[in-house]
Amino acid sequence: MNDILQTPIEYLKGVGPSRGEMLRKELSIHRYGDLLTLFPNRYIDRTKYYKINELQSRSLGSNSEVQIIGKIIHIKTVEQKKGRGRLVATFVDDTGEMELVWFQGQKWIRESLKLNAVYVAFGKVASFSNVFNMAHPELELLEEHKQSLRSAMQPVYPSTEKLTQKGISNRTINKMMQQLFVETQARFTEPLPPYLLDELKLIPKNAALFNIHFPKSQELLAKAQFRLKFEELFFIQLQLITKNLIRKHKIKGHPFEKVGEYFNNFYQNHLPFELTNAQKRVLKEIRNDLGSNAQMNRLLQGDVGSGKTIVALMCMLIALDNGFQSCLMAPTEILATQHFNGLTELAKDLNINIKLLTGSTKTSERKIIHEALENGELHILIGTHALLEDKVQFNNLGLAIIDEQHRFGVEQRSKLWKKNAIPPHVLVMTATPIPRTLAMSLYGDLDISVIDELPPGRKPIQTVHRYDSNRLKVWNFLKDEIAKGRQIYIVYPLINESEKMDYKDLMDGYESISRDFPLPHYSVSIVHGQMKAADKEEEMRRFAAGKTNIMVATTVIEVGVNVPNASVMVIESAERFGLSQLHQLRGRVGRGAEQSYCILMTSHKLSDDSKTRLETMCRTNDGFEIAEVDLKLRGPGDIMGTQQSGVLNLQIADLVRDRDILQLARHEAIKLLKKDASMTLPEHQTLRMVFMEMSKKKNIWNYIS
Ligand code: ADP
Ligand code: MG
Repeated sequence: MNDILQTPIEYLKGVGPSRGEMLRKELSIHRYGDLLTLFPNRYIDRTKYYKINELQSRSLGSNSEVQIIGKIIHIKTVEQKKGRGRLVATFVDDTGEMELVWFQGQKWIRESLKLNAVYVAFGKVASFSNVFNMAHPELELLEEHKQSLRSAMQPVYPSTEKLTQKGISNRTINKMMQQLFVETQARFTEPLPPYLLDELKLIPKNAALFNIHFPKSQELLAKAQFRLKFEELFFIQLQLITKNLIRKHKIKGHPFEKVGEYFNNFYQNHLPFELTNAQKRVLKEIRNDLGSNAQMNRLLQGDVGSGKTIVALMCMLIALDNGFQSCLMAPTEILATQHFNGLTELAKDLNINIKLLTGSTKTSERKIIHEALENGELHILIGTHALLEDKVQFNNLGLAIIDEQHRFGVEQRSKLWKKNAIPPHVLVMTATPIPRTLAMSLYGDLDISVIDELPPGRKPIQTVHRYDSNRLKVWNFLKDEIAKGRQIYIVYPLINESEKMDYKDLMDGYESISRDFPLPHYSVSIVHGQMKAADKEEEMRRFAAGKTNIMVATTVIEVGVNVPNASVMVIESAERFGLSQLHQLRGRVGRGAEQSYCILMTSHKLSDDSKTRLETMCRTNDGFEIAEVDLKLRGPGDIMGTQQSGVLNLQIADLVRDRDILQLARHEAIKLLKKDASMTLPEHQTLRMVFMEMSKKKNIWNYIS
């Protein structure tokens, strides 16, 4: 280890206590090592010096910084009506003149400026009544500029407003970095084994760190970036894969040795349809896990409508064949109820005991459930968070299935575990496709199964985008569909249940729809978050039973609702929804044999991102493709929500742009661990040391759900 990297940052020459405090607060830089891994956001080309008359012809983007060589020939303070005025220096070269302007620190700056000395001024240029100016430029005497350890590509470090205000500019950080390299003698531990550097043509750690901060050339910078990104992703993968291996070795599960009567009876006599190949493959993967001695921890991904429910049931039947209970936990009451109804229907001839437990289950019913659960009479329990209550005690829980996992946190998952001495097998089902690259880094600790095939005979949903001004035509289309006996969803955005505006939109919409589709010819249902659970349930039931033609709803119906006769999904203000939400909503239709439609209604005002989202929806039904676009638009942090963002706090790699490096890192990590799982070979000594150090500090396990 480089012990010197543990030194508190204030000891670095030029930092001291007050700057140290700022660095801690603003950039979480506590020690030398933290500064070393403060990687630049971007680089500015400083090989080019501009002339003042060239500024005219340049198209000045908001972020364009230039450097100009010239002299200050005049300095004045310009008083302003309000505030403190500004300091203005006239800066000239042989082609023209411009102004350098300061609003802060004027006294100090005025004293330090040298008239007629040659400076290099660096900063963003703006023009004001035909005079170019540069506010708060970085100024350096040409002589010093030539001598400073600075490369053509000037790094731009992450910063904050507070830091700049306190005079810790990019240049200050650059100087600190130089000092850091002096004090550490620019020698850093190389954690990667030499054979790996050779094989992948990676530059050594020392060279990489030097060139990331002081790039000698474009080429070396690219190599430095590649090397450091690889290293970062490689260590994450080592952690994830190691955890997975440890789990498989150490966490014993209940081996479900046999496939018995329940499963076979269902498979041979009661299967309502032929399973798709994807369903069969996934069942086999799960079955393998269940039969081994290790605890299963598997993520089952499958687009909406791909048929996860029956897979879940068959897994639970295997548990039952081996004498174990199962539970299925869903994020909302509606979804839990839907699962309950669906599974009860599928299992109706199997003579098994299935119950539903949610927040609105009556106390008397609860008692019965608790008892049957404890004495083992209850085979399968389906429900919401209510399953996690302490009172809910299983006799022998062998399998826990969690639907729509991203809504449950780590704690909740582990709470289920604690219900038994030996943890149950865990199957996490999600209909939100996660791009493989992302899944690999977020769920590296889970095994992944994918149902990548829809049941046969489905007609792809047709999706169109219509402007509000075409509403009349859309309504006529809806009337035609209703005349054919179809049902329709019309969904309003209600991103935040408490937002009155959204709620008003919904109610206004409901009123005008009720007017346009009047009784007795039509009937319209409404479901939203402010209704009582029982009322929601009742409305859903009426719609599902075909008693109403149109369901006006908020995103309450987003998850899981299954009404095969509904063939049109109208999404109002579609520009306000995210891609994955649009896709989820669209998945509510297309469940029956009829052609289904999704109509995205928007106003004419659309941002570029909205346009991309709408185009993507109209182009494809493929959830994975949509997830990829979503990932590009929003970045990984957003997609997974704040809860998982910890793991995405990468120092240099970017999961979207660097997915190839991620693949490579994963591949190499697997290869290395296959050869040397405990990293004890001599050539892995340093690797292991760094790995242990990292695991102590930053246990990825802790913040992956
Ligand atoms: P999801 O993956 O969204 O939970 P479901 O399990 O609800 O999907 O299945 C969607 C619909 O497809 C259900 O009506 C189900 O009965 C039907 N289904 C599932 N698998 C098949 C299959 N192999 N062949 C035909 N229909 C199927
Ligand atoms: Mg489902």
